[in-house]
Amino acid sequence: MSWVEDAAGSAYDLDNLPYGVFSIDDSARRVGVRIGDFVLDASAAAALGGDPGNGPDLATAWGRPTLNDFMALGHDAWQVARAWLVEVLGAEVHRDRVEPLLVPLSEVTLHQPFEVADYVDFYCCLQHATNVGRIFRPDGEALLPNWRHLPVGYHGRAGTVVVSGTDVRRPRGQRLPAGSSAQVRPSPELGPTRRLDIEAELAFVVGAPTPLGTQVPTSAFAEHVFGVTPLNDWSARDIQAWEYVPLGPFLGKSFATSISAWVTPLEALEHARVALPGQDPPPLPHLQVEEPAGFDVDFEVELNGEVVSRPPYAAMYWSPAQMLAHLTSNGASLRTGDLYASGTISGDDRDQRGSFLELSWGGRDPFGSSDRTFLEDGDTVTLRATAPGALGGRIALGDVTGTVLPSCST
Ligand code: MN
Repeated sequence: MSWVEDAAGSAYDLDNLPYGVFSIDDSARRVGVRIGDFVLDASAAAALGGDPGNGPDLATAWGRPTLNDFMALGHDAWQVARAWLVEVLGAEVHRDRVEPLLVPLSEVTLHQPFEVADYVDFYCCLQHATNVGRIFRPDGEALLPNWRHLPVGYHGRAGTVVVSGTDVRRPRGQRLPAGSSAQVRPSPELGPTRRLDIEAELAFVVGAPTPLGTQVPTSAFAEHVFGVTPLNDWSARDIQAWEYVPLGPFLGKSFATSISAWVTPLEALEHARVALPGQDPPPLPHLQVEEPAGFDVDFEVELNGEVVSRPPYAAMYWSPAQMLAHLTSNGASLRTGDLYASGTISGDDRDQRGSFLELSWGGRDPFGSSDRTFLEDGDTVTLRATAPGALGGRIALGDVTGTVLPSCST
């Protein structure tokens, strides 16, 4: 356990140690490590000396304004860095030197933790895909024929991924007037979305890149993925419903995607590994995994301070190792900063659904104490997530929060 004040036994003890990027007043942005309610000025700590002698140059990598240079050092360097942090924040002998480099969380400004290279969003949850199929195609099969054979995904917009705390302006776009159908000579109109939604997801951040023309086997997942963040895939359902045929999501998704200010290293989730719920039929060989391939991460969706849903990530059908293997199975390269998300997480029960679309069943059944179907201007949504840690308690992933601003009038 840590010597840092009030960190021992907290959700941010030595078994967590997420990385972020911070500044104080007008100082330069640099990498910080969260411990308790403090941020360790990581590059200054590494520069004190006593850092891994012949190891990676952490003082330089952590002095940068994003995590990208550190993530690009690769898996061995991440392990060395984490072991060193555990040592200096855990052993009392380092306290006198390191304590002056702890900054109270309340005194720092947190920034986007890494530069997003490519952003991909998957659709890995059986319950979510089934719910959406039932809502949109009540007379057809809920699942399309490909769904159990590959993790369905699309390429999103990296440049509009924003850090937690960033306000989200209600997007405008083409949508059909209420009550009209796309089947009979539709007359779309332009206006603010009437069906603004969230999607509670877990996202994976690639650290170690690959060359074009190579594949990443499921067994190499931990060599390439640096860490995780909860992700809110804000969605405009009316814009999405009109535009998505036949090429998939576009402007109904690309206006904003929120991630946490903290990236939790994959190593911190080692005690959260669980077996997948089961895959039937078995996937093709290149998508098979060694169990346990899932992660026991519990989510909470909070709307204006009220928890309206508790999606369980452990219920997800496709694992992140399979997403990565599928993503690279055609030879597509990986870049440091690539971000790929799980898709909406929904459990079997109503209060485990990870989108308002499902919670309100397409807008039909209002939910929560404020009788919401979709988001209203001024609403604040916060995603929280926790997982079993190595010290016996639960570690917290960084919150993801955002408030809806009214649409611009033109
Ligand atoms: Mn999504």
